[in-house]
Amino acid sequence: MEQTDKKPIIELQNISKSYYSETAVTQALRKVSLSFELGEFVAITGESGSGKSTLLNIIGGMDTFDEGEMYIYGEPTFQYDDLDWEDYRRTKIGYVFQDYSLIGHYSVLDNVMSALVIMGAEQDAAREMARKYLKQVGLDEYENHRATELSSGQKQRLSIARALAKNTDVIVADEPTGNLDSETGNQIISLLKELSKDHLVIMVTHNYDQAEAYVSRKIRIHDGQVISDVLVNQTDEKKPAMEREKLPAQEMNLRWQNRVAALFAKRNRKTQPGRAFLFTTFLFIISAASFLFIGELFLHKDDYHTRGYSNSVFAREDDTRISVKRADGKPITDEDLQKMASMRNVVCVDSCDLANDINFYLDEDKDYEYHYSKVLKRPVEAPSNAVTQTVSFENTSRFMKSTDCISEDDLAFGRMPEARNEIVLYASDDSRLGSSQKCYFTSDNLWQSGQYYFTDVTIVGILKEKTDDVYFSRALCQMLGNPSSLAEYRLTYAWDSVLKLYLVRRPVIPVINDSLKGNEVRASATDPYKDNDKMAMPPGASEMILSWQAVNEKKDVVGDPIEDTIQVQAERNEYTSKVLEMSQELFDKHYGGETYQASIYMTSYAKTDAILKALEKKGYVGVSTYRISTGEYLEDLVNQRLIIIGICAFGLIAILLAEILILRSLMRIRVKDYFVLKFIGMKMQVIKRISYFEMGGYALAAILLTLILAWILRFAGVTIIKDIMWYYTLIPYLLFALYNFLLIFLTVASFNRLLKGRLNQ
Ligand code: ADP
Ligand code: MG
Repeated sequence: MEQTDKKPIIELQNISKSYYSETAVTQALRKVSLSFELGEFVAITGESGSGKSTLLNIIGGMDTFDEGEMYIYGEPTFQYDDLDWEDYRRTKIGYVFQDYSLIGHYSVLDNVMSALVIMGAEQDAAREMARKYLKQVGLDEYENHRATELSSGQKQRLSIARALAKNTDVIVADEPTGNLDSETGNQIISLLKELSKDHLVIMVTHNYDQAEAYVSRKIRIHDGQVISDVLVNQTDEKKPAMEREKLPAQEMNLRWQNRVAALFAKRNRKTQPGRAFLFTTFLFIISAASFLFIGELFLHKDDYHTRGYSNSVFAREDDTRISVKRADGKPITDEDLQKMASMRNVVCVDSCDLANDINFYLDEDKDYEYHYSKVLKRPVEAPSNAVTQTVSFENTSRFMKSTDCISEDDLAFGRMPEARNEIVLYASDDSRLGSSQKCYFTSDNLWQSGQYYFTDVTIVGILKEKTDDVYFSRALCQMLGNPSSLAEYRLTYAWDSVLKLYLVRRPVIPVINDSLKGNEVRASATDPYKDNDKMAMPPGASEMILSWQAVNEKKDVVGDPIEDTIQVQAERNEYTSKVLEMSQELFDKHYGGETYQASIYMTSYAKTDAILKALEKKGYVGVSTYRISTGEYLEDLVNQRLIIIGICAFGLIAILLAEILILRSLMRIRVKDYFVLKFIGMKMQVIKRISYFEMGGYALAAILLTLILAWILRFAGVTIIKDIMWYYTLIPYLLFALYNFLLIFLTVASFNRLLKGRLNQ
């Protein structure tokens, strides 16, 4: 390079700059004209407030000017926009600040590497080059120290190494020794002099004496004007024009920007694990709360639970039950049962649908109670001391289920029922195995009030899992829940041969007595004094007519009666008058037959719609027994539901605001780091993306943590979680994820706006 055609790197022509505040206008620079060349070590000096920093900031592209023109490598800058200045700062200027402006939580090596990566270097190359620069400033021993651990002088060396790493022609330094003692300050200045061999170094100092021996040019500023500009320490020795090592050019496209942003996000996470933990914890709390709120919203979307339940159609109030028939009206086959049982979210299929509405009473003094009273006799009769026993049913919440719903695997002890009166239940040990006890049965919707049946049942199996359910043999379920008890048929009997008519026409509970054969039946013994009870067997009667007549849905008798002559056993039974014992043969003839209706039990009410839809596709007609039995809204429950929905909606909005405000203020602590990144050349676009990557990462971790925790709690059997998890299908999950990412997006966007404002100041 010949001295003669040496072009100035930077040239200022009549630059003026004023600061405007509400009360005053300060003219910081007045018509300053200067030019700078490679190899110069310029000291700008002057008293405090004279405009030194303003001048340096304009040279460094950190501040704008009002008048005049600045040429960079001979090119004017009047048409420069924000992006051009950003590019200028990025590629043309290395900065050294009085306060070092390091990223404190980064290692020494990382601080230098950052500049190189931002300039487009690959990681490995950046590491090698960074080591070279650290060696040049004498910090090669410290590369793994955190920047905060260094002494002041070392910090300034590091900031110089970082400026070097940008590989620019120009290095600007504003009071680089301002915070250093004089000896360390001297070292820094001598280092800068060293660099000025192949750089243009422009340094602001109010302590010129310290720099005097090193600099090659002294510019004095007073009140915004250049009052002297002299060359000093000039020697004849020609500085060798060194070609500095150039970074391989990197195309700084979107992908590269994302990579750099992701890299810095990762470095932030790694170098500040405490902060990462804090953010993740905060976001986890937010995500867990939103998970609950969204789940509650879906749980309360359906309002059936706010309506009253009527047990006239289905006595069992169980919202997980679906009563199902074939769409073609044909009987349900074993194949049908298997098909239904294999559907998703189906717990079990009970082939005895009707028995599922029959109450049972197994435990005396819990389920039922006996009452004793003296029989009142008519005065004409001899006084009696006879005591009658009546039974009252206390717990009407237990309903039959058949063994269809369990298998051998569910048993801890014993076996599955084989005979009709064998049952399986839960007990803590096997002490009850083999014991027999009385069990009563009633049904609100299948039988008339006051009708009950009882039989001795034997416990043949003990379940592993604790439950209140008792599983009855299929035979008993089919006997009690036979299709005729749906009142399709009605029993008409007690033929009076004198009056020539049936005295009684009412439903009975037809039950099987294995000791009866052929046409034999046993009717109840009744109090002969209650003469309105025509069910009583006439004394001495041995033959009666039993007749069935079809009834329609309104229970009106239709069609011709079907009659049977029956043999009545002389022995009377001990049931109420509405139970009629008969032989298996007779029972099968009139009550036996195919099953047309089964009960499906779902994992949760939440799956009702999904299962009904699936059933329809497979050729079945299902109804939620719960839904068709609910009617009028119950005000309290309706209000409760609305309050819960309100709370959830409010909660989700409150979370949104809390996150934006709290996180943004936590993130604010970092603004200084972004300031540094900006001056070591990171584009604003990339800076903005760092937070998306970093916070997005924390959010992802928080979301995963929430889901894992939810699944753990669900399987641990925590009721609230279990209840809402049933409602978590694809859409709620998507909403949950979307909500949390939207929160992060809004938070980061809001932070970035704040950041942009700060960085552009
Ligand atoms: P020096 O670095 O020589 O001490 P500066 O260049 O910082 O001086 O400041 C020059 C003048 O401009 C001072 O009077 C200062 O108060 C004023 N000034 C500098 N920066 C601003 C600003 N951002 N807003 C308003 N006035 C400013
Ligand atoms: Mg200053």
